Amino acid sequence: MNKIFLSFLLITTGFLQAQNNTSYWQQHVDYTMEVDMNVDNFRYTGTQDLVYTNNSPDTLNRVFYHLYFNAFQPDSEMNARLESVPDPDGRMTINKGTKENPEIVSRITGLSEDQIGYLRVNSLTQNGTELQYDEVGTVLEVELANPIMPGEKTTFNMEFEGQVPEQIRRSGRNSAEGVALSMSQWYPKLAEYDFQGWHADPYIAREFQGVWGDFDVKITIDKDYTIGSTGYLQNPQEIGHGYEKEGTKVKKTKGDKLTWHFIAPQVHDFTWAADPEYIHDTLVAEDGTVLHFLYKDNEEIKENWKKLQPKTAELLAYFNEHIGPYPWDQYSVVQGGDGGMEYAMLTLITGERSFGSLLGVTAHEMAHAWFQHLMATNESIHEWMDEGFTSYISSEAENVVMGTNAENPHKGSYRGYQYLASSGKEQPQTTHADRYAMNALYGASAYSKGAVFLAQLGYVIGEENLSRTLKRYYDEWKFKHPTPNDFIRIAEKVSGAELDWYLQDWTQTTNTIDYAINSVESEGETTTVNLQRIGLMPMPLDIDVTYADGSKETFYIPLQIMRWEKPAEEGTNRTIKEDWAWGFPTYELEIPSSKEEITSIEIDSSQLMADINRNNNTWGKSETENTESEN
Ligand SMILES: [Zn+2]
Repeated sequence: MNKIFLSFLLITTGFLQAQNNTSYWQQHVDYTMEVDMNVDNFRYTGTQDLVYTNNSPDTLNRVFYHLYFNAFQPDSEMNARLESVPDPDGRMTINKGTKENPEIVSRITGLSEDQIGYLRVNSLTQNGTELQYDEVGTVLEVELANPIMPGEKTTFNMEFEGQVPEQIRRSGRNSAEGVALSMSQWYPKLAEYDFQGWHADPYIAREFQGVWGDFDVKITIDKDYTIGSTGYLQNPQEIGHGYEKEGTKVKKTKGDKLTWHFIAPQVHDFTWAADPEYIHDTLVAEDGTVLHFLYKDNEEIKENWKKLQPKTAELLAYFNEHIGPYPWDQYSVVQGGDGGMEYAMLTLITGERSFGSLLGVTAHEMAHAWFQHLMATNESIHEWMDEGFTSYISSEAENVVMGTNAENPHKGSYRGYQYLASSGKEQPQTTHADRYAMNALYGASAYSKGAVFLAQLGYVIGEENLSRTLKRYYDEWKFKHPTPNDFIRIAEKVSGAELDWYLQDWTQTTNTIDYAINSVESEGETTTVNLQRIGLMPMPLDIDVTYADGSKETFYIPLQIMRWEKPAEEGTNRTIKEDWAWGFPTYELEIPSSKEEITSIEIDSSQLMADINRNNNTWGKSETENTESEN
């Protein structure tokens, strides 16, 4: 090969490879499925026609499907992990020993052939040509007959069958509360392909990633069963079960079964639940969204489930106002599953709870309608954006809807993060959701540290900028798959501050924040506060001073790498000082008052900065020192 040709090749291949994440694209799916459920043995058969559009710049030679129900088998990877993790999920285990001498065993291990879950593909074609495929645990690996070129559509036709497992985790039959069918992750679901390539993750424990598209689903089931589902029911007058127009009669159909027809536009998942004893209530919210509530006819829970309904409408209004309008016409709160889990246009939650817990879980799961089903971050990779953002906004919403009105509704999240940071076992938030050493570490990282990411961002750029950031994030990223960088870029554009350091230190490292007041010295009418940065993570500082006459002043020390100053909050007396550049471990803050005139000095009295050691944050008699209260 001559040199000129070689350099030409390098230039052209270099040019071709430069097509990466600089321009956003996402794949598209259109599912048409028909499924027939046998409620005597919990087996079902189905057909699936899937039109797949390759919007990527790449030619695809293979595709992958998730077969999630295969996880509920004794020899599965999920069970191996469940049996080896130091703190297995209590919902997935039983204690075969005593309270004193526990013998914790996996519930999956004990499943019989009739109780396991499975999802099997019986045939698969691409544009009519039979395909080769391999079932590998919870993933179907498919070799394509014809590569899918960029911009091209292809049609897959599949026949499949499944068995709904005894309820172990999230989905399944015969839940602890007696719900017959919790049908999440029940169909062969095409894996996502994005700028980071394929995401054919096995189902080990944690959550999901799906391809955006439209679903047309027909479910045939025993006519006594009421279904709550993703999607709009197309044949309510044939079905009834509380879906028919008020005051109208439902057509009588022959046979023991009904076929429910649902259409769900622009979603990345399709979930349903069914039970012969569901009560079905509806409530039209202020914005016109029809809220559906499906719960067991159980005297002990009825009152809570009635009280929940207007509160759910209030939660919806809160999220509409503080994130952006809920875009679908329907949302369902359905008793099912094993805790609380978000799905497209609905949640499955357990129903035998106190009212506070029922509302709290509903608030959390409903918030996921935004931070998962609209801004659909990959939950395996960016679990903190999913759980953290949801925890943040649901704590804010609950604080208002429940009338708690705590000044900082995120104290629980801050405590969770403190536990994590002091555990010596913290892993960075870039850890894959399944790869945490313990479940508790995942929880503290994704939920607590994830919520603190936003609450603390309010401290860094100001509450007004945070609020505008969330709204612009919704505007630019709804119906897409945003990444952490997409979010922080919006915060940068909204505020004008440079924030790459915040994203990196907080989410990609385990660096901690610890600032201290080392000493306070006075000379004449000047007081010098000697500050020290002990932790590796930089932060801008609000130094709150209370004077002997009762007045207050905040000295704001900008962080130099932000190239920016936070706007003062209305009604506050604030003085901006010189920047603090991170490399300098100490900083001298001069206050133009004598020591006698000062009652107390505190680094960040709002406590929104997640300083891991607040014992060194105060000087003098601080009023705010011991005001922390439980809420
Ligand atoms: Zn969640």
